[in-house]
Amino acid sequence: MSDVLNFLARLEAAPLAVEQRRCVRVRNRNAKCMRCLESCAGGCIGYEDNEITVDPTKCIGCGTCATVCPTDAIHPKKPTDAELAQQCLDAARANSGRVVIACKNMLDRADGLYDRSKVVRVPCLGRVDESLVLHLAVCGAQSIRLVRDACDECAHKKGYVACQHVCASANELLEAWNAPQRVSTSQKLPGSVRARELGYDQSRRAFFATVREGTADAASAAVDTVCEDKLGMAPPKEDRFVHVDSRGTLPHEVSQRRKTIIGALDVLESRYGAPLDTMIDTRLWGEVLINTDECRGCRMCATFCPTGANFKFQTKSGSVGVKHRVLQCANCRLCLDICPDKALQLSEEVFARDISDGVTERYLMGALQSGLDGHDTMASSMRRLFNDNVSVSSYTTN
Ligand code: SF4
Ligand code: SF4
Repeated sequence: MSDVLNFLARLEAAPLAVEQRRCVRVRNRNAKCMRCLESCAGGCIGYEDNEITVDPTKCIGCGTCATVCPTDAIHPKKPTDAELAQQCLDAARANSGRVVIACKNMLDRADGLYDRSKVVRVPCLGRVDESLVLHLAVCGAQSIRLVRDACDECAHKKGYVACQHVCASANELLEAWNAPQRVSTSQKLPGSVRARELGYDQSRRAFFATVREGTADAASAAVDTVCEDKLGMAPPKEDRFVHVDSRGTLPHEVSQRRKTIIGALDVLESRYGAPLDTMIDTRLWGEVLINTDECRGCRMCATFCPTGANFKFQTKSGSVGVKHRVLQCANCRLCLDICPDKALQLSEEVFARDISDGVTERYLMGALQSGLDGHDTMASSMRRLFNDNVSVSSYTTN
C-alpha cells in the first residue's frame, strides 16, 4: 500500500500534465512527431501504447518539451503559464518594467548578488515560449532579457537550443507587428537587478502599473474573444479520448498558448497598426499547399488536423474539398505525414497579413460519394480512397 501511495504522490508531484488528445502522434500513429521526446535531456518522455508518458521521478520540469510541442499537448504545472507570466510582471514592476528571467544554474552561482524580487527563476530557459514573450510585451514590459549559464556544459543544453528558436520567432513577430520590444539572451545579469539598493523611480513604477493594467485587460479581452470571433471555434471540451464527430473529423482545438499569441498580436495591431506586408519565418505557423492533381480526395488531412487549420467543406452542387487557414496551422506536419498520395507541401514561411487577416485557401476535390446529413464522413472518405473496396463501420482512436 505504501508503494502505491508513494507512486501516486510522485504522480501528483509531476511537473507536467499531458493532454493526450492534442498530441498528433496519439491522434494518428503514422504521424512522425516526437519533438518532445527528442528535446528531453533527461529521457523522461516516452511513447507507449499510443500515449505520451512522463516519468515524474526523472523530470526536472524544465518545460522544454512543452515549448517544442506544436499543439501544446504538454503543460508545465509548476509554475503554470499563468503563474509564470504573473511572476514576470511582478518582477518587472520591481525592475522599472524590465523583465529578467534567469536559469537556476546562473542564479545559484550569483546567489546573494542579485535582488530576488527582480529576477524570475526557471529551471531552464527552455521554459520560455513565444506566448509568454508576447504577453509580456503587450502588458508593457520594456525589455525581456533571458540570462543563461554555460549552456554548452549543461545537461539540459537542448533547452537553450529551443530558447534560441523561441527568441528568433518572438522577435520576428514583434518586428512584423511593429512593436518596439525585443527579447534577448545574455550570460550576464543586468546591473538593474543587483542586490545593492540604488533607489527607485516611483513615477516610472506608477506609469508601468497603469500601462500594465490597461494592456493586460485588453490582452485578456482579446484572448477571450479571439477563439470565437476570429477562429469561429467554441472553447474545447475536456475529454480523455478523441472521437470522430458527425462531420467526420476529430475535434479541432486551439490551445491556450496559441490563443494568447493571437490575442497579443491583435492588441499589437490595434496599438501599432497592421503588420508589415512581409513573409515571416517562425516555428509557429505553416501554410499547407495541396496538389489537387495528386490528391484523391480522402480528406484525411482535415480529419486528423488537430487545430482545424484544414477543414472540410461541401458546395451546394455536391462537390467537396478542404479549406486551409494559415492562422490556425501549428506546423505540426501531421497532415503531410498521413497523406496517402503525398499531395501536400508545407511552407514554413507565411505572410504576416495572412495570419492577421485569417486568409483561407480553398481546394476542390470532386463530388461527394456518400455522407451523413450533408457531411462527408470518414467512412465515405476511405471508400473514395480505396475505390469502395473497404467496409468501415465505426472508428475511434481508443
Ligand atoms: S505532438 Fe507534442 S506531445 Fe505529441 S509527439 Fe509531438 S511534441 Fe510530443
Ligand atoms: S494543417 Fe497545419 S495544424 Fe493541421 S495537420 Fe497540417 S500542419 Fe498540422
